[in-house]
Amino acid sequence: MRLLLVEDERALAEALEASLKRENYTVDLAFDGIEGMDQALTGIYDVIILDIMLPKKNGIDVLKELRAEKIATPVLMLTARSETEDKVEGLDNGADDYLTKPFQLQELLARLRAISRRKGEMEDQTLSFGDLILDTKRCVISSRETKKTMQLGQKEFQLLEYMLRNQNQIITKEQIVEKVWGFESEAEYNSAEVYVSFTRKKIKFIGSKVKIKAVRGIGYTLEEN
Ligand code: CA
Repeated sequence: MRLLLVEDERALAEALEASLKRENYTVDLAFDGIEGMDQALTGIYDVIILDIMLPKKNGIDVLKELRAEKIATPVLMLTARSETEDKVEGLDNGADDYLTKPFQLQELLARLRAISRRKGEMEDQTLSFGDLILDTKRCVISSRETKKTMQLGQKEFQLLEYMLRNQNQIITKEQIVEKVWGFESEAEYNSAEVYVSFTRKKIKFIGSKVKIKAVRGIGYTLEEN
């Protein structure tokens, strides 16, 4: 699960980041509304945690603009106790839930689980291209033709899921690095190449006709032979 946390109180943001990472979430931070908006527009997040009182652009405006841009990523809003009206406005503008500050970490984790459960129920459990099927709950690939299956590692899964959700497009190495490792990671483009190569081997192992084709100088796309 990749989270975007938009919160201008740096100490709070960094403490939450550390706690969420311990719970195996991948977390990117933004410290104002404009930065948060830019990152959220990539559409790579599973949940956005969005503070309301933010410099440059407030959380309600960020949310309105995201929904206007058809970004449907679930949003959990953070509000101060005095901002109950903002809370209502947030929900009216397409927030999925809200949490009043100060809150316990356990409560945030419970809300995140509930949001991702709802999101999971709305999404199909499988993605496919040609004979290749990805079971997104179990992280297993299979071929409709050979019936062979193979377990994917976490990064291979994120890579292939991203490619399947954007099939018929060319995915750049930069997009792969952002999706799988996050904006602030030290991962290099050759990390993307390494995981593309791992994933290719697994697809080949199950005898699928689908290939991750390299598009020279640009990136990768799915192709069926
Ligand atoms: Ca704030």
